[in-house]
Amino acid sequence: TTLSLNDPTLLKSQCLVDGAWIGEAVDPVVNPATGETLGRVPRFAERETTDAVEAAETAFGPWAKKTAKERSLILRRWFDLIIANREDIALIMTSEQGKPLAEARGEVDYAASFVEFYAEEAKRIYGETIPSHRADARILVLRQPIGVVAAITPWNFPAAMITRKVSPALAAGCTAVIKPAPETPLTALALAELAVRAGVPAGVLNVITGDAPKIGKVLTGHPAVKFVGFTGSTEIGKLLMRQAADTVKKVGLELGGNAPFIVFDDADIDAAVEGALASKFRNMGQTCVCANRIYVQDAVYDDFVARFAAKVKAMPVGNGTEPGVVQGPLITMEAVEKIERHIADATAKGATVVTGGHRHALGRTFFEPTVLSGATTEMVVTQEETFGPLAPIYRFRDETDVVAQANATPFGLAAYFYARDLGRVFRVAEALDYGIVGVNAGVVATEVAPFGGVKESGLGREGSHHGIEEFVEMKYVLLAGM
Ligand code: ADP
Repeated sequence: TTLSLNDPTLLKSQCLVDGAWIGEAVDPVVNPATGETLGRVPRFAERETTDAVEAAETAFGPWAKKTAKERSLILRRWFDLIIANREDIALIMTSEQGKPLAEARGEVDYAASFVEFYAEEAKRIYGETIPSHRADARILVLRQPIGVVAAITPWNFPAAMITRKVSPALAAGCTAVIKPAPETPLTALALAELAVRAGVPAGVLNVITGDAPKIGKVLTGHPAVKFVGFTGSTEIGKLLMRQAADTVKKVGLELGGNAPFIVFDDADIDAAVEGALASKFRNMGQTCVCANRIYVQDAVYDDFVARFAAKVKAMPVGNGTEPGVVQGPLITMEAVEKIERHIADATAKGATVVTGGHRHALGRTFFEPTVLSGATTEMVVTQEETFGPLAPIYRFRDETDVVAQANATPFGLAAYFYARDLGRVFRVAEALDYGIVGVNAGVVATEVAPFGGVKESGLGREGSHHGIEEFVEMKYVLLAGM
């Protein structure tokens, strides 16, 4: 390999099962910016996944019995190690995923923040006493860890989608089996190596790479797994939910979005331009909270389009490891083809390309950051999440109408709007059918707030003190005969 890491032992080619690194390095992991093979990982299936689930099941009892403070200290050490190895993890991430190094560093910090937060929260999983219905009895509510947790994660946030699930699980006393995306297993395995160094016991955290449908069948079907946490496409989320129904598992799903980004005529336009850039082009548009539809009010439309397009045109595109680059390659050629389909459909229906519109001269999966003006409801991009660097801009006249358009989708993850009128801010924030609303902000993610969607964007919340609820069951204990 050509990666120059400070600690080359973070680059793994085996999976972690029951505290042992096992498996033959088979499936290549490719750098989308260069086409180079960075490494190989095992192609595991049912047998190894069952072994991992059973190791997690065995490890569950002793891990759950540790004091909250013991678990907290181990998580805290994991956090410290992630931060201490930020540069290496960021380089691994950029190399397998493509995002610019500055964004990768930001993701390492964001990923670590969940570990830190839940190390603290581990100590605050309180039970309850309830005034009883009988004079001779007392009512207690215990909150106990649910058991083995499965985490199936996507390539767009190779570190954070793992720690956001696994650190509250471990804090609560659960054990975990992680199945990272095939495009980005190396970040996941590096995090697992640091977990081992932090003192996470054998079997408490396992990582399996390989055949997704076969691994998924075991993770959703094995009776020992009590919760399946998934971030990814709506299609696979629905499939996993169906599969999990047979054994009545809890599921946490963070699926696709179709985020509206609304600029009202009373907005600070400079701030709205910056917010739209950050929301739309983070990770080359490949996040589930990226603005997918930008609605701008009539009076400020032309001004917004001109200023926004000028900034988009100026964004440096290249290999994410090069200084100054803010747009890397897309994850796959299918991602490039999807943007091209959306652009061709929109221009055929009357949209204008203001900047970009084509594959980038760098080749591979590099694409020019693109702005379309004159977007309308009939265009495919209105219904489908592009998941790439394409910003379609719609013109609107009135508040009621734009809110209706913003809500006209089966999805409901993130929405954004820029406005200053206080009445409008409250009205619109309340009327948007979304789990997350950014007002005068293009970036909303933080470990201290609950992240998740409504409608077909998912179930459950990750992050914040609410995030731990997924991983504990309530037990009602009636103490009678007093
Ligand atoms: P994307 O299209 O963005 O890759 P996916 O939903 O296909 O989104 O992938 C998200 C995660 O789900 C990845 O880890 C992927 O390997 C996994 N996955 C895909 N298909 C299945 C399946 N049938 N069972 C379990 N996991 C799956």
